Parts: sequence; C-alpha cells; structure tokens
Amino acid sequence: MSSTQYDVVVCGGGIAGIASALAAVRSGAKTCLLEKEYGLGGLATLGLIVVYLPLCDGAGVKMSGGIAEELIKVSIKYGPGNIPEAWEREDATKAERSGIRYQVQYNPASMMIAAEELLLSEGITIFYDARISGLERDGNRVIAVKFGTKSGERIFTGRSFIDATGDADLSWLADERVVEDATNKRTGWYYSYNDKELKLNQLSDPLYASSGVPFYSGTILEDISQHCIDGRKMILEHIRSMRESGNPHIYPLIIPTIPGFRMTRRLSTNLEFSEDLHEGYWFNDSIGMIGNWKRKNLRYSIPYRAIKAIKNSNLFAAGRCCCADKSGWDLMRVIPTCAVTGEAAGTAGAMLALTGEQPEISELQRVLRKNGVLLQPELFERREA
Ligand SMILES: Cc1cc2nc3c(=O)[nH]c(=O)nc-3n(C[C@H](O)[C@H](O)[C@H](O)COP(=O)(O)OP(=O)(O)OC[C@H]3O[C@@H](n4cnc5c(N)ncnc54)[C@H](O)[C@@H]3O)c2cc1C
Repeated sequence: MSSTQYDVVVCGGGIAGIASALAAVRSGAKTCLLEKEYGLGGLATLGLIVVYLPLCDGAGVKMSGGIAEELIKVSIKYGPGNIPEAWEREDATKAERSGIRYQVQYNPASMMIAAEELLLSEGITIFYDARISGLERDGNRVIAVKFGTKSGERIFTGRSFIDATGDADLSWLADERVVEDATNKRTGWYYSYNDKELKLNQLSDPLYASSGVPFYSGTILEDISQHCIDGRKMILEHIRSMRESGNPHIYPLIIPTIPGFRMTRRLSTNLEFSEDLHEGYWFNDSIGMIGNWKRKNLRYSIPYRAIKAIKNSNLFAAGRCCCADKSGWDLMRVIPTCAVTGEAAGTAGAMLALTGEQPEISELQRVLRKNGVLLQPELFERREA
C-alpha cells in the first residue's frame, strides 16, 4: 500500500469538491481531489442537472460571488449558454436586474471539460476511480483516507480533509454525528432526440410528496440500486408516452450515469441551517450568502458552524452534505450554495493545514472577502447577538 501526503485532501469532485479544491490550492495548499467516477461535476454533469440556479436574490442584488460566480462562467465557457445581459453588464442598475435571475442552463460535457481544465491548470492533482472506503484518525484528527483502486488499496495522508461526497461518506467514516434522509424521490433528468430536436426532460416524482410515491435512501445498497432501475424505467415510460402522442421517432440520447438523489446523508453539527428560521438572518460566522431559488427577495447567510465538523478538528463538509434542517437542505443542496460552502471549506482547510491553527472567523472572512466572496451584513434585517 503506497502513501502520499497532501495539505488538503478533497473527497468528491462535484461542484462542492471543485470549489473546495480551487480555494485550497489558491490559498497555497498542496491539494488533491479524489473522485470515484471518471469526470468532474457530480450531479451537475453526470447527473445531468444542468441548471445553475440563481446567484442573486431575485430583486436585483447579487448574493454569491467568488468561486460560485466563477463557476457559472466556467459552466458555459465551451458553450452553449449566456449570462443574462443585465448580469453580464457591469454598469447595470439594481432596477434593471430586478426580476431577472442570475442563472444559466449549461451543457454538462462543456462544464466537465472546462472544470477539469481549470483544476489542472491551477495545480490540483485529480485522482479518478478512487472510491473512499475508510480513514485513519489520531485522537480528534483525521490523518488519512483510504480508497480502493484497481491495483489495490491506497492511502493519502493530509492535514485537512474536505467531505464533498454529497453523502457525508467521510463524516460518517470519521464517526461524526450524521442525519440520514430516506425520502428521495424517483428522478430522471435526461436528453431525448427525435432526429430534429434535442430536449432536456426534467423528470421527477413531486419533490415535496409525503406519500403516494416510492421513497429511497441514498445510503442503502438496495435502495440505491432500485432508484437507478426505477429512474431508467421512468425515462422509458416517458419516451413511450411521447411516441404515442405524436413523436414516433423520439429516443433517449443521454441519460444520467449517477443516481439523482437530492438529500441522502449530511453532517450534523450544533447549528442546522434552516430556510424557515434563517431568512434575512446574519450569522456572526457567516462564510457566504445565497438567495432562494424558489422565491424572490429572500436572503440568507451560511454559518461556518454548518460546515465545520465537531469531533474531528480538521474535517470540513462542503455541498449538499453540510448541516441543515429539512427546509434548509433544500437551499444548501443547490449548485450555487455548494460552490459557496466549497469555497469556504477549502479556504478554511488550507488555513488550518498551512498554519496548524484553527482559522479565526474574522481572518477567514477577511480572506474570503479578498477572494471575491460576498459578505454583507448590511443586507440583513436580523443579526445574531
Ligand atoms: C433531480 C434533481 C434536480 C436538481 N435540480 C437542480 C437545479 O435545477 N439546479 C441546481 O442548482 N441544483 C439542482 N439540484 C441539486 C444539485 O444538482 C446537487 O445537489 C449539487 O450538484 C450537489 O453538488 P455536491 O458537490 O454537493 O454533490 P455531488 O454532485 O453529489 O458530488 C459528489 C461527488 O462525490 C463523489 N463521491 C461520492 N462518494 C464518494 C466516495 N466515497 N469516494 C469518492 N468519491 C465519492 C461522487 O461521485 C460525486 O462526483 C438537483 C438535484 C437533483 C437530484
């Protein structure tokens, strides 16, 4: 078993892992990213979830900058897709931007290629086909992750570790408290073609259904397998119904290659971010800001306490496995927020790795601001005491 040493080890290469790795390497940390699949992007590419939800509050105010804003541009770098004109133009007023959401629909192939190109150009070492299956701890620190490869088990040691697996695999392995959600619905985002038109079909059982549809866990083997099978059946049923309703030549062209799970397992800390409780609320340890993709004119700050593990002093969560209650998870899991928490986790992880000290919140916020992250307490009506 060979061992390799990094400052920051990022586990998972979805949007959160991409943002974490970029933030860590830009902070001067020797950084690697381990991904079990064969390309970057996770759900945002392999899952064909190709809508980069808004970086704004819907009332003309930008909420998320930094790497979250950089990645929206990366997603369309090799086309197609455009940033809305009111957001592209730097001199546009708030009134001109109001009502126009700062979001894009992108092409997953272009996004995957552009993200990989970016990470490699910044000096991040990417390992594909690397499924993390274990770790080693020393007291209250993670010291190494273990992962399977075709040539046997490998082990990478690190000073900080980022759990960007979407499913809190690392947090679970590190004996952190985690919360499971077994209420995932059938999903099947896929592209169809009928020899003329390429169409994105966003199939899903109702997101908020509490009965009458099948539920799936994202961490139980049988449920994961059944979700994959049922998702493909859903796609086939959809194709059949379109053929019967006047589109006889239509067929599935590209289907997801990872399951479309929204919420599976997440880190549990002492502060659950909540859509219901924290609208318009500024946390003292805010590491980023977001809007609400479902409704306009709502603003949120994301607390550091939602990404910092409790038992392991050098473990951070990023993306859809950060700490949130059921309502907050719905905001925490979307692409812009995954980039926001990823940037914060990568920055904090690098600061810890390079100094050996836990980052002071004020210093973390200063570095994030310097890097373009928006942290504006004046936008919030309610403040933490
Ligand atoms: C049906 C559906 C519709 C959605 N619609 C939208 C939308 O319109 N817009 C939007 O912004 N968001 C949407 N989302 C949410 C969003 O796409 C995802 O939540 C987000 O992309 C998650 O990013 P992430 O990096 O946290 O996790 P993931 O994308 O899940 O990435 C995790 C990565 O870690 C890897 N990994 C996992 N475990 C391991 C391991 N043990 N070892 C190594 N690698 C591992 C995975 O292969 C994956 O690449 C939707 C989600 C679903 C399911």
